Amino acid sequence: MSDKNWDIETDLLVAGAGPAGMTVAIVAALEGLDAVVCEKADQVGGTGATSAGTLWIPGNSQHRDTGFEDSAEDAAKYLDQMIGDDRSSEHRRAYLRCGPDVIDYLEEKTDVKFLPCGVHPDYRNNLAGAGLAGRAIIPQNFDGRVLGQDFDRVRPPIPEFMLMGGMMVGKADIVGLLGRYKSLGALRHSVSIVLRYLTDRLRFRRGTRLVMGNALVARLFYSLKKLNVPVLFESPIAEFIQEGESVTGAILNTPDGFRRVRARKGVVLATGGFARNPKYREAFMPDPTPPYSMAPNSNMGDGIALADALGAGIDTSGQGAGLWSPVSVTRRADGSEGLYPHLAMDRAKPGLIAVNAAGHRFVNEAVSYHDFVEAMYRAHETADTMPAWLICETGFVTKYGLGAIHPETRNLSKYLADGYVTVADSLEDLAVKIGVDAEGLINSVSRHNRFAETGTDEDFGKGDLELNRFNGDPSHRPNPCLGPIGAGPYVAMAVWPAEIGCSVGLSTDPECRVLDAEDRPIPGLYACGNDMGSLMSGSYPGPGTTLGPAVVFGWRAAMHAAGKLPS
Ligand SMILES: Cc1cc2nc3c(=O)[nH]c(=O)nc-3n(C[C@H](O)[C@H](O)[C@H](O)COP(=O)(O)OP(=O)(O)OC[C@H]3O[C@@H](n4cnc5c(N)ncnc54)[C@H](O)[C@@H]3O)c2cc1C
Repeated sequence: MSDKNWDIETDLLVAGAGPAGMTVAIVAALEGLDAVVCEKADQVGGTGATSAGTLWIPGNSQHRDTGFEDSAEDAAKYLDQMIGDDRSSEHRRAYLRCGPDVIDYLEEKTDVKFLPCGVHPDYRNNLAGAGLAGRAIIPQNFDGRVLGQDFDRVRPPIPEFMLMGGMMVGKADIVGLLGRYKSLGALRHSVSIVLRYLTDRLRFRRGTRLVMGNALVARLFYSLKKLNVPVLFESPIAEFIQEGESVTGAILNTPDGFRRVRARKGVVLATGGFARNPKYREAFMPDPTPPYSMAPNSNMGDGIALADALGAGIDTSGQGAGLWSPVSVTRRADGSEGLYPHLAMDRAKPGLIAVNAAGHRFVNEAVSYHDFVEAMYRAHETADTMPAWLICETGFVTKYGLGAIHPETRNLSKYLADGYVTVADSLEDLAVKIGVDAEGLINSVSRHNRFAETGTDEDFGKGDLELNRFNGDPSHRPNPCLGPIGAGPYVAMAVWPAEIGCSVGLSTDPECRVLDAEDRPIPGLYACGNDMGSLMSGSYPGPGTTLGPAVVFGWRAAMHAAGKLPS
């Protein structure tokens, strides 16, 4: 390939403008490399834009500065118990070693700023080394107006996570909105965010007060722009260019035709994993293949497929292929189908159980979203658990909300009409309507109600874990997660398995170099984010299990390419 064949020359070509890819490009630019980002969609953010934006960074200084004690050693002990020694042990050690420094680096040199979450339990606090507080950080809210016209280039959150058709709310906002008549502070906060939103709507298509994952990707994008790193939109990476065994560039399929990009230091794959690739879904995911995905349509596994064709290894050695959440299927205002991920708002609250087609409970409903879906698969081996059914009373929905139905909703007719929920006056009728064994359901409810009285769930331990109680109702006694399901009317909502991220990905070394089938680095080729096999090996230890590694290994890839990765 002679020089004149190149349309663009740079040091590092980064494919994908999600959290992983944007981190790589920012760090590369800060370390003196020329970087170009190519993005398949017409917006940045990928799955990250729709996420909760939490990063799991044990030992972070954001918490240390506010008095929380934590250590990477404790976190290592926790991960060892959960995962054991495997192919990714070295990656995990590297992650824990440099995680806090990566966050400090971004805070110091860019507009990517974080806040400590304080109490936010790890998902299995019954394992040694688990943390109850101090490991989860979230991005600081971001004012999308500073992006000017480029605000439209930030992928919006899912409509299910916005109020009034476009207002983002974080956890603190939800607490404020629900408590608006209980304190002057909450009322003031609620009025201020609503007024800000209404003002925004005079100029913008949605609210510009960005929180959670949207704040993270907007902060990354803003930092990228300040460093003058070009983002080529609607320009997917389509093919590698090789010299000998080395990847020295790639061909992009841009709106102006194919463009050859020379990448002197290499190509970084950060295209978000294989979520929308039917072949890989079928090959790697459990049976039955999850029917839904939370990933954007553009995440077709392009990075993995390109590297696969080059002879790269795909790491299937972990415990599973996905990082899961149960989702309910919504009907959006425009008639299209949406998904609501049941992450934290409803399952742990008192007065709700989950059952399968036999009417049997199969799980502690308040476990993490990932563990809930794993339990669905286990239960499905003996009784149909696809979908599983969340069962509660209409009073529960009014008090706590259910899926995309907000708390304080009294009239369910809209949700009944579009099939989002099923309602009946008796458990028997409800069971018939949803095709669940009636006797099984009635027995499950009455057994659960006995547990609610004593406060001890003898079957599944709902309320035993710190995580359960964190998401439960602290005002409910004796167990914040167990409450009776009374005389009705009753509500049922179907939930299905979906992934919020893929955990099977390319084999890499801890420097993010893609490995071939013999575990040798392919020169010039890196992967990070969900294109890289998850270092958590298919388990989900705590809040921020994918974004933490996406950012930390994004930094590591760029530092390695710049020849500056500390040992
Ligand atoms: C509702 C929800 C909540 C979540 N909350 C959290 C959380 O709080 N903490 C956490 O750790 N994780 C969370 N996740 C998961 C997390 O969002 C993803 O794991 C993470 O965004 C993956 O980052 P990524 O950069 O690898 O991929 P993505 O964010 O998906 O970005 C990939 C980008 O690559 C682009 N692309 C695809 N193909 C090509 C191509 N051929 N060429 C160029 N570009 C391409 C895509 O368009 C996309 O923009 C959540 C997910 C969901 C759905």
